[in-house]
Amino acid sequence: MDPYKDLKALLTKNRASLTKPRQKVFDLLMGQSPQTMQVLVKRAEGKVDRATVYRTLELFERLGIVNRLNIGWKYKYELSDIFLEHHHHFYCSNCGKSYDLPANPMLETMVDSVAAKEGFSPRGHQLEIYGHCPNCR
Ligand SMILES: [Zn+2]
Ligand SMILES: [Zn+2]
Repeated sequence: MDPYKDLKALLTKNRASLTKPRQKVFDLLMGQSPQTMQVLVKRAEGKVDRATVYRTLELFERLGIVNRLNIGWKYKYELSDIFLEHHHHFYCSNCGKSYDLPANPMLETMVDSVAAKEGFSPRGHQLEIYGHCPNCR
């Protein structure tokens, strides 16, 4: 699987092109756990300016390339299920860390069927669980 090919196809389909800054922002997200805007701007320093990082994430979110997660008291960004295996998060409200949880087939089916029963065609979902992590219990 070539993530750049998928990225490029998605952008082209929406009449946008894969520019160098967009690819840089994508690289910052690839293989990473959820990051705040501040962290992304900091990591992009010297390569992509703040305004471009903001605009790119806005575009990526609109096109379904990234998910904006409501973890803790800040938004965090993570690549969507197209580029990352579907999973959920656990957020520890004591130490502030977020953990990836494996997707559970039974839960996945249940979540989708709840929506389908009401006549919706679900395309995805986000699920964040809050509480205390093993280190903080
Ligand atoms: Zn903790
Ligand atoms: Zn799920």
